[in-house]
Amino acid sequence: MRKLSKPTEIARETLKELTQQRLDPTPEHYSEVYHGIAGTSEDERLPALALQIEQALEALPRQSPELKRTLDQLRKANRNGDWPAVPALIIKYVESQGGQSGLVQPWSELVRNLVKQWDLRNPAYPRNRKMESLERVLIHFGSDPEQLNDKLTSLLRSWGETSSENDTPVSDENGGPVTNSTASFSTTQPLPAFPPPASAGGDISWQQALAHAMSQGLAPRLRHYPDLASEATEIGSEALAATLDADVQKFNVRLRKFWMRLELLNDQEQRLCDGLLNLLRLLTGNMSELVVDDDMLHGQIAVVHAIMEKPLDMRLIYDAEAGLKEVIYKQSMLKKSLMEAQHALKSMIASFIDRLGTLSDSTDQYHGRIAVYAEQIQQANDLGDIRHVMADLLQDTRAMQLDVRRNRDDMQEARLQVDQSQEKIRQLEAELREVSEKIRIDQLTGALNRRGMEESYEMEASRAQRSGKPLSLALLDIDNFKQLNDSRGHAAGDAALSHLVAVIKDLLRPTDVVARYGGEEFILLLPETTTQEAVPTLQRLQRELTRRFFMHNNDKVLITFSAGVTEVQPGEHRANVVERADAAMYRAKLAGKNLVLTAELPTEPHA
Ligand code: GH3
Ligand code: MG
Ligand code: MG
Repeated sequence: MRKLSKPTEIARETLKELTQQRLDPTPEHYSEVYHGIAGTSEDERLPALALQIEQALEALPRQSPELKRTLDQLRKANRNGDWPAVPALIIKYVESQGGQSGLVQPWSELVRNLVKQWDLRNPAYPRNRKMESLERVLIHFGSDPEQLNDKLTSLLRSWGETSSENDTPVSDENGGPVTNSTASFSTTQPLPAFPPPASAGGDISWQQALAHAMSQGLAPRLRHYPDLASEATEIGSEALAATLDADVQKFNVRLRKFWMRLELLNDQEQRLCDGLLNLLRLLTGNMSELVVDDDMLHGQIAVVHAIMEKPLDMRLIYDAEAGLKEVIYKQSMLKKSLMEAQHALKSMIASFIDRLGTLSDSTDQYHGRIAVYAEQIQQANDLGDIRHVMADLLQDTRAMQLDVRRNRDDMQEARLQVDQSQEKIRQLEAELREVSEKIRIDQLTGALNRRGMEESYEMEASRAQRSGKPLSLALLDIDNFKQLNDSRGHAAGDAALSHLVAVIKDLLRPTDVVARYGGEEFILLLPETTTQEAVPTLQRLQRELTRRFFMHNNDKVLITFSAGVTEVQPGEHRANVVERADAAMYRAKLAGKNLVLTAELPTEPHA
């Protein structure tokens, strides 16, 4: 259709349209059809007044979402000529703008209220919930200051709601009321700028916090010092009651004195702790000296020593206690059986000796009697006398033979029992050794553990020094072990560690020592081996691992390691040697892994 531009043409066309559509010729219908034909825009159709109103609305401040919403509704009503809605909307806007409902607060006020509400305890809104909701608001509205302000205001209201519902005073953690008039900070009303200060410029939260810290935090920890504990509680109550400047000053003095007493006590306790540790060190040190051949006890003492070397840690102490208890229990069981066996052996030896005594007694007796018979034979005058003597002699000889046989049987029996007892003792001693060995052996792989390695090192190093023969140490670290764990699971990782140790043990000499130094790190001690000899040994191990794969779920998994090798210098401390090997191992990792590198030897000889 051709677009009409002249008003007369448009008017004619409008009338035609009205008749065709059978519309009443009211001003509204006329205007609607007219503008439709003329193609006038929405804005152009607005009455001049409405247009002015809209421009005015645009210029009004809209710093909060609430205001923005009200203005949008007003604009819509203005456009649609929905005049009855307009007065209510205008009132709403003015009220919101006046800030009387407290929805939007100046930032300074908002922050103060936030801190206040944060400190006030509300059972329905514990700290962690406050933290969560605050974080959510910050994440979602942090980039829009207006919305943030609005949301924070609502948040503060909800934090305060339950505590204010019953208008109950804020209670302490145990539900006990906190007796302070300003504590019942009500938030059903719009949030006040800040609760009225407790006259002396004091803010209630520090008093509450201090009272709480004193009575709930400090006092229970001072239960061994009853006077200090009750002073802590009293100071807490005094903090709550301090409302005047003078009160606060007096309170400060008391508090300072109290801290000084605490500091002194702290000092004392530290010294006590140090003293106890020293005592324990002395005691365990002496025990090791006294019990030279008791491996088991050495093991236990070493555990206690290891704990004392590090900063005290409750978990370590518990672990050690549990371990020691188990070992002590097993040891006591074995010791009991061992004592029984020893006792049996002793009584058998005693009866054996007894029998030997009887035997020699009875042979002595026979000796005496034979001498008598010999005398009688000498003095015998006729054959008849001799015959009598011979008959007696024969009878005695027979009895003697019987005696001897019986004693021999008894002795054989006793010997058998002695043998059996000795065997049992050997067995028990072996078991006892095994239990104490466990402290030196890594339970997963069967290699020595760190302690076992340390002991072996001391032994091998002094042997090397005595004999003047070389001793090499290698530190192995499995490559990409975490990846193996991650892809195949921890149990597979464990099995791989055992596999590696099995291969190492097969390949190395029986005199070589293999120890698990840490998670997937191992130390090899190679006596009578120079670095030049140790490197090919380790490379052979690497080759062997490419032949003896670690099998997991029917997959062949190749384990490789990087290693650093070094030679122990005479008198050198273990830590130095390990550190050197570790540095070389680290270079091997950096150089691409699956490598064996030697460490640079120190330039200065060790004392
Ligand atoms: P790199 O080649 O640099 O040595 O890498 P890596 O993954 O071997 O070394 P990393 O030190 O990053 O990871 C060692 C992993 O060994 C992490 C740990 O979970 C694992 N691990 C330590 N002890 C054990 C254990 O007893 N069993 C198992 N399965 N895994 C262990
Ligand atoms: Mg490692
Ligand atoms: Mg590794």
